[in-house]
Amino acid sequence: MTPGGDARGPLTDPAGVAALLRYERARGFAGVAPDATPGFSGNKADGVRSQDEDADLIRSAQERLHAHALRPDGHRRALILVLQGRDASGKGGIIRHLSGAVGPHGLQTWAFGVPTQEEAAHHFLWRIQRRVPAWGRIAAFDRSHYEDILAVRMHGLAPRVVWEGRYDTIVDFENGLTAGGVDVVKVMLTVSQEEQAGRLRERITRPEKAWKHAASDLADRRRWHEYTQAFEDVLVRTDADAAPWYVVPSDRKWYARWAVGRILLHHLEAMRLEWPAADFDPATALAGLDATTALIAEG
Ligand code: AMP
Ligand code: MG
Repeated sequence: MTPGGDARGPLTDPAGVAALLRYERARGFAGVAPDATPGFSGNKADGVRSQDEDADLIRSAQERLHAHALRPDGHRRALILVLQGRDASGKGGIIRHLSGAVGPHGLQTWAFGVPTQEEAAHHFLWRIQRRVPAWGRIAAFDRSHYEDILAVRMHGLAPRVVWEGRYDTIVDFENGLTAGGVDVVKVMLTVSQEEQAGRLRERITRPEKAWKHAASDLADRRRWHEYTQAFEDVLVRTDADAAPWYVVPSDRKWYARWAVGRILLHHLEAMRLEWPAADFDPATALAGLDATTALIAEG
């Protein structure tokens, strides 16, 4: 049942984790247990240690991406990581963790809230298109173009015919990105009712979290099952091998961070980017370096 699995030890390799968490139509969104830890059989300390090792690997892979982007003959690649999920499912925390690992030059983060007046005056993909990362970079999206289906549908912001048409528009948009060298990796977090209640309660009762509380989160929570259906519809209609969805259990924050890191690593490794060959002659450059040392010594 666990491809790439337990024989490898307590932690499953990135490709194995990605395979376990990949959206499956038969299982659906609701079929993924929010408190599970697929591919992970160590303890929490193992997970945290593995996160640190993965952070180094992700940083190095992003540097290879960037090194290629700087070279006229290098590969032109970039990656968008989309995070979706209910309120308090941990989207922001995962992105903070990743940007800490990679750094702001390599991983840019964008949060998409209620469209501003300017954004609302454009096609819904306009604000997304502006955040497509440059070659060599990763962009993490805290919510995304999928809100133009989800939020619009759930809050009745446009007629059904409008948001219904967006599934195909989004598939075409993402196909264009991936065909052109921008990978699109999509994560739907799943949190249990109990865990979400605990996290929303903290926002209400703890001063340092109160800024995250929104009355609309409670209104949305009441419609739990309708949201589940809306997520199922997004997944079934927009999952593609070129722009795959992953469903990540996120009741345990450390697991969700570990798993999303592994998924990202899997996609970076799948690009198979080596360090580009030097575009200078090392012997000549070394001789030049030694010459500068000699000149400095002479004063
Ligand atoms: P938060 O992620 O807590 O900052 O909340 C952002 C809010 O903006 C959520 O309630 C989203 O549903 C809402 N939102 C994001 N994108 C859109 C959109 N395109 N149309 C309407 N509401 C949106
Ligand atoms: Mg919120």
